[in-house]
Amino acid sequence: MAAPSPKVPERPVKAGRERVGEVPPDQAVPPDLETLAASLQVCRRCDLWRDATQGVAGEGSSRAALMIVGEQPGDREDRQGRPFVGPAGLLLDRAMAEAGVGRDRTFVTNAVKHFKHEPRGKRRLHKTPDRGEVQACRWWLDAERRLVKPRVILALGATAVLAVFGKAAPIGKTRGQRQALAGEAVGLVSWHPSFMLRMPDPDAKARAYAELVDDLRLAWKLAA
Ligand code: SF4
Repeated sequence: MAAPSPKVPERPVKAGRERVGEVPPDQAVPPDLETLAASLQVCRRCDLWRDATQGVAGEGSSRAALMIVGEQPGDREDRQGRPFVGPAGLLLDRAMAEAGVGRDRTFVTNAVKHFKHEPRGKRRLHKTPDRGEVQACRWWLDAERRLVKPRVILALGATAVLAVFGKAAPIGKTRGQRQALAGEAVGLVSWHPSFMLRMPDPDAKARAYAELVDDLRLAWKLAA
C-alpha cells in the first residue's frame, strides 16, 4: 500500500528566496523517497501537472553517493512514470556502462518532475521548462537531495545546471570543474544525452558523448 502523502505546499517558490540545496524551513521534507514520489502526484506548485500523465520522481539507491540530474521526463518517462527510460536514457545507460558507473548504485532524477510538451498531430513535442517552472520544482529536487545526501551531483544540460546551481552556466566551459554545493556536496556539469541525439554532425556528437563518459568517470571517482 502506498505511504500516506504529506500536505504539499502549493505556493510557488520565489526566485532568490532560498539557498540552492535547501528546502525552505516552513515546508516539511517527505520522510522517504516513496512518500515523495506519491506526494508529487498532487503537487500544484506550477501548471505542468495539468497536461502530464503523472509526476516522475527520481529512482535508484536511497544512499547513492552520486546523483545524476537531467531536465524533465520525456514522452516515454511520462507514460511509464520512471526517469531516463526513453532514447536519452538508453544513451545515458551506455555512457554509464562505459564509464564504469552502475546505474543501480546512483540516484537518477530530473530538475522538473512533470513532462512539458505541446501537441503536434498525434505526437507530444518536448518543450523546455521555463525558469519559473524550474524554480518551483526545485523544492522536489532539494527534497531528494536531502533524503539521498549524495556526495556528488552531476547536472546534465542547461535546465539541470539552473536547478542544481541556481544560475545558468555554459556547459562547454564549466564541465570538469568541481563546484561546492550545500550539504558539502560537489557539483559537476555535463551534456544532456538528448542534446547529442539532436546533433546532426556525427563528429560533434561523438565528441560530446566522449565528454559525457569522461564527466561520468570523474563524478564516479569523486563519489567513491
Ligand atoms: S513540475 Fe514540479 S513544481 Fe510543477 S507541478 Fe510538477 S512536481 Fe509540481
